Amino acid sequence: MTDLLTVTELTRSYGSFVALDRADLTVAEGARHALIGPNGAGKTTLLNLIAGTDLATSGRIAFAGRDITWQRPHRRSRGGIARTFQHPSVVPVATVLDNVLLGAWHHHTAAPWRRAGRRRIADDCRAILETVGLTGLEHRQAGELSHGRRRMLDLAVALAGRPRLLLLDEPAAGLTDADVTVLLAVLRDLSDDVAVLLVEHNLDVVAAFARTVTVLHHGRPLVTGTPAEIQADPAVREAYLGRRKVAETA
Ligand code: ATP
Repeated sequence: MTDLLTVTELTRSYGSFVALDRADLTVAEGARHALIGPNGAGKTTLLNLIAGTDLATSGRIAFAGRDITWQRPHRRSRGGIARTFQHPSVVPVATVLDNVLLGAWHHHTAAPWRRAGRRRIADDCRAILETVGLTGLEHRQAGELSHGRRRMLDLAVALAGRPRLLLLDEPAAGLTDADVTVLLAVLRDLSDDVAVLLVEHNLDVVAAFARTVTVLHHGRPLVTGTPAEIQADPAVREAYLGRRKVAETA
């Protein structure tokens, strides 16, 4: 498989504290890649550096063959990197459909200044809402949605950007079991054109979703492998899992 994202010796220091320490990571085209590790391991820091909302102290990030280490976040977004946040970042006073339209606006091939173009963009946004199970809610205000639905709307906004790389920061956090089932179904149905890098503490979600898992520990990748390999790795057990268990992939 071709590499889509290559992170080389990436470091982020805050004063004397090193949150990410010469980290290397490769994400393949179409990957289903999970990033796990204890609280404070540097997972969100790494997503922030890849998305461009934070800048590295040193190191390099290459995406689709281009060096994006110093690229502004909106350029990365246009280049095909989308993300969701630990706390869903939807516009609460806008409708569900308008939130997705905002996500699609700069990424769609149709011309938004033409009526036919606007109709095509809106149709595609409705199709994305159907994908994430929000059909019928398009005229509701986003702020009225339940936490689980707001998470799915956040995901819909990210998908509206037509990403090649989707960064998901703890998408299962705060979800009910039923919402987790919906989330996993949506992730399973994503096109192989989209690579996913998922940060998640819920190891059942990781086991059900990921083909590749990287364990981050003290800002450094400890090991990368299949969920089964990660489960069997003594260093991982020692550093992170303890008595917890990454379930066998179904
Ligand atoms: P969690 O699983 O709890 O979300 P994480 O692995 O995502 O943790 P990060 O949020 O990346 O961890 O944080 C890594 C470390 O960097 C933490 O110790 C955090 O306090 C520190 N850190 C993150 N951002 C900053 C900042 N802006 N200034 C100072 N320290 C920071």
